[in-house]
Amino acid sequence: MQKNKNFYKEFTIHQTIIQVIPYYINNLPLKIQTAIETVDNKKALILGPCSAESLSQLETIVKDSADLTADFIRAGVWKPRTRPGHFQGIGAEALQWFTELKKKYPVKFCTEVANAKHVELCLKAEVDALWIGARTTVNPFYVQEIATALEGVDIPIFVKNPINPDLHLWLGAIERVYNAGIRKIAAIHRGFSFHGNSLYRNIPRWQIPIELKRRLPNLQLIADISHISGTPTHLLEIAQIAMDLSYDGLMVETHPDPARALSDSDQQITLEYLKNNILSKLIQRQQYTEDKKYNSLITDIRSQIDKIDHDIIKLIGKRMQLAEKIGTEKKSKKISILQPERWNEIITKLLLLAKENKLSEEFVFSLIEAIHMESIQHQSRKMNS
Ligand code: PEP
Ligand code: MN
Repeated sequence: MQKNKNFYKEFTIHQTIIQVIPYYINNLPLKIQTAIETVDNKKALILGPCSAESLSQLETIVKDSADLTADFIRAGVWKPRTRPGHFQGIGAEALQWFTELKKKYPVKFCTEVANAKHVELCLKAEVDALWIGARTTVNPFYVQEIATALEGVDIPIFVKNPINPDLHLWLGAIERVYNAGIRKIAAIHRGFSFHGNSLYRNIPRWQIPIELKRRLPNLQLIADISHISGTPTHLLEIAQIAMDLSYDGLMVETHPDPARALSDSDQQITLEYLKNNILSKLIQRQQYTEDKKYNSLITDIRSQIDKIDHDIIKLIGKRMQLAEKIGTEKKSKKISILQPERWNEIITKLLLLAKENKLSEEFVFSLIEAIHMESIQHQSRKMNS
């Protein structure tokens, strides 16, 4: 333990994510360009079936979505299925359907690629954009293979989050694609796998895409509300959160007849449902306004908030000095750092206070837990110095 002064660090909840500066490669910020050009800066919309099933299925979607002016029609051609024996996608044949429909309609298609062969076939078929799926983003070998196959090509690439909540894998995949010379890159947030129960099929862990966007401010961020939700029930609330968090657009799985879809039938919706139950109910948000009165009011409130944040950190600093004093005393008497009953007493008192101050117990618990771990580190430094 003497050798590793950061022994207690592994217990802190935040250390893997902290980096104040944005994402750099060789000391240069990434020059990511707009991957989805929308009219009047409106939110991007990618819709279409989970899987391309037939030419007529795709044609129905293309025709019926004309008034929505979707930026891309999505349709999986090769489907990564968790279990064998399920529909694995039509394969390369479906790419010809894209080509045929593009001759008839002003439409752009995107599909998932999971290896170099897929990329090669898609480029040959002139698919308009490609996405790397969640099960591929986890694997740097595959991501690199895809990136290498994309060298010298100018095509928008969407990188879905990895299935595990690992920001670095997501960033790493984006970096591999970037290093291949691709500049039009967007990120698709489709939620993360978990074990146990949740309202959603994949839990969103919003803080991960928020951090991604902080590191790569130019990167468009799209919410794949279908794969997060897993059922139509939660699509609207998830889409609204995405709008509230300044996402750049939505990906939604739509199917002419969801009940008969060959994959992800539980979560697909009709275009009617998308229009009537989601898009028309969604409150669009903008990041800024020119309204002077609003802006000065917000500036005023924000300066009060900044002062409180400043005081909080100062106070925590003072608390740590007291912890160190205790550390010195405990050291001389050979007393352990942690006394469980004291820790329990702190939590009990603060959870009561949380209620009185309209704060959630979960929040206050994680806050005091983080403060307590920091405090243990301070004491430990004194006691083991
Ligand atoms: C999909 O978009 O249909 C898909 C398989 O996505 P994900 O990689 O997010 O599971
Ligand atoms: Mn799907």
